[in-house]
Amino acid sequence: MKSNKVIHPLLFSLYPILALIEVNLNQINFDEVIRSLLLSFLTGGCIWLLSRVILKNPNRAAILATTMIAILFSSGHIHNLLGNYHIFDLRIGRTRYIFLMGALILGLVFWGSFRYRSHLAQINSSLNVIAIILFAIPLLQIAVGMSSQQQIPDSRDRSSIGRIDTDITSMLSGHEAKSDLPDIYYIIPDMYTSQGVMWERFNFDNSEFIEWLEERGFYVAGCSHSNYQRTVWSLASSLNMSYLDVLDEHLMATSKDPYAFMPYVKDNVVRQILEDIGYSIVAVETGFAVTEWTDADFYRSFSGTGAPQLFAGLNSFETLFLRTTVGFPLLDSANHLPKNWRISFIDNAYINHRGRIVFALDELERISAIVKGPKFVFIHILAPHPPFVFGPNGEYVERITPFTLDNDEEYYAWDKFSDGYVDQLKYVNQRFKEVILEILASSKSEPIIILQGDHGVPRLTENLENAAILNALKIPNTEEYFYPTVSPVNTFRIVFSTIFQINLPLLQDSSMFSKSRNDPYNFQAFPFWMTTCEMN
Ligand SMILES: [Zn+2]
Repeated sequence: MKSNKVIHPLLFSLYPILALIEVNLNQINFDEVIRSLLLSFLTGGCIWLLSRVILKNPNRAAILATTMIAILFSSGHIHNLLGNYHIFDLRIGRTRYIFLMGALILGLVFWGSFRYRSHLAQINSSLNVIAIILFAIPLLQIAVGMSSQQQIPDSRDRSSIGRIDTDITSMLSGHEAKSDLPDIYYIIPDMYTSQGVMWERFNFDNSEFIEWLEERGFYVAGCSHSNYQRTVWSLASSLNMSYLDVLDEHLMATSKDPYAFMPYVKDNVVRQILEDIGYSIVAVETGFAVTEWTDADFYRSFSGTGAPQLFAGLNSFETLFLRTTVGFPLLDSANHLPKNWRISFIDNAYINHRGRIVFALDELERISAIVKGPKFVFIHILAPHPPFVFGPNGEYVERITPFTLDNDEEYYAWDKFSDGYVDQLKYVNQRFKEVILEILASSKSEPIIILQGDHGVPRLTENLENAAILNALKIPNTEEYFYPTVSPVNTFRIVFSTIFQINLPLLQDSSMFSKSRNDPYNFQAFPFWMTTCEMN
């Protein structure tokens, strides 16, 4: 009996977690996945070992172990998939039926392992091959994904990036930067929409905050729209002062990966020019890979560099993982769990998320005292973007569904979403006021502060509504550049015009929409004159 070369139970126990990491690569930190990886490996190992002890026959044990592992790690997926399907009056996605199905499959495989006992070694060899292939696919994709996060692809059309570079740099050459360089704060509150949309759709009047900004010298472009509808595209464009097709024509034409422009968010022209004239780069942990500038001169980390928290409650990745496994009923019925359990299973990920946002805002208040000399501070804040974790005064919002950045079930109904958004916005507004007052009080010369949404609220689909953003600019001595529809792509053209005391040309303000997930760079341009923006 050949049995020594079996490896598939361990590979099958690692496959689900690798696949999940691969899908969420741009939203996770590696600290967050270590416990899940360890647990998967140990679970797989224990099941295999136990099967061998109980069944005595190593070939049969391996097949049964893999079956059980597959059931454990896929139950949540099947539950989600079957959801509300009915066969007659039976809702087959119910927990009890899922478990019943699992037991039946296990029983069937057990029976089969006797019925086809002469083929067990052969089946194991086949399972090994399948497992190795399955295991290798996400592993390769993770490796490719990680390397493309790190660097601008070699395939980029260097002449085109050179074009913006030389355009702007040749225009700047021969011009000395001002001697007293102002600090620059580029603050991106994710999904912060315009006053008009807030009034029309959210039934909320944000004018008090807007007027407050205006009184402090901000120009608030009332009809501004983001140039793109995704964080990564929007920031790649604003930080390179150009539309994506000019930034990397080749990538636009060939890539189907919505995150392909990620390296341009980190490695951008604005940062290069500022570094060249003596700016320090300051960034704060965001929890979102697209906007993590870990290589900044001063990187303020919320998670710290300590050992991963082995005994803390579940983080956001772990709730996502648990949800796909046999542990899904724990999350589904979390509001019936004892309070301590609920905090560990549900709330911990939200508490972390809150902590990171508060940390970023706190750091913003401290930075000008800590970092000397001219600095470019880049801060991306995942609010008012869901999940909604702040009440209007920053109080904790109790949650019953597991953490997710994008499809928050608890706030799916528009009324709930709208209330949650406005409450979170009120808190963020209040903190922005404190932050801005602190920056103004502690800056030696008048700073540049940009408070800019990266896109609007995607759920709104009428015309350009979902591209409407807050665009508040405090850039001294550039009044002639301000107009109601000025958009993010032009932000740093205005900034450099004041720093180098020249007039950089502005681009036409347009919003680029792409409808197809499979063809993300097939954009359709909407110039802003097509909007019916209500001016307040
Ligand atoms: Zn965003």
